[in-house]
Amino acid sequence: MCLLHPACPTWNYGDVLSQGASCWPLEFSIRALIFRYGSHMAVERPTRAFSEGVRKSMQGNRGRDTKPELALRRAAHALGLRYRVSVRPLPNLRCTADMVFTRAKVAVFMDGCFWHGCPEHHTKSATNAEYWAEKFRKNRELDAKNNRVLAEAGWTVIRFWEHEDPISSARRIAEQITFSRQKREAEAISGSIGSM
Ligand SMILES: [Zn+2]
Repeated sequence: MCLLHPACPTWNYGDVLSQGASCWPLEFSIRALIFRYGSHMAVERPTRAFSEGVRKSMQGNRGRDTKPELALRRAAHALGLRYRVSVRPLPNLRCTADMVFTRAKVAVFMDGCFWHGCPEHHTKSATNAEYWAEKFRKNRELDAKNNRVLAEAGWTVIRFWEHEDPISSARRIAEQITFSRQKREAEAISGSIGSM
């Protein structure tokens, strides 16, 4: 999740934090880089600032295909669900969902615990507290706005925290897909009765 553009799949800072709990110098350096250059630049800059290993690990922390996302996709696939990955549910809305079920009109988002302010894992930043608080507030606002626009367009939005169990999350998606299909079928039947 990109700091400046929450829909941008550049990388996932939340993962850096969750993995880097034992590595505060790295965390601190990343915060400083983002603060100074914005997150896009922070991905480029560390080429010089960090060792090759750290750089590789940071490049691996993109917003797309994070470990929790892959686990959820695998669990959903195992339940027979088929979906599109990282696409916009609505072409005109700058909002990419992690899993999209086009026919059922279901959009699934996996929110990073750090970026989206998970009540269990979000910790307040000690440095530049106001700056970060503002960023998180904006992320939450954008989430709420996207939820609203999608709902108005007839979509069902399901959001998971990245810490949630992938198997129970996948079951919840499957239930929603079944519900949407039954609703669609019922509407089709009542539509054909109405036109008789
Ligand atoms: Zn969490």
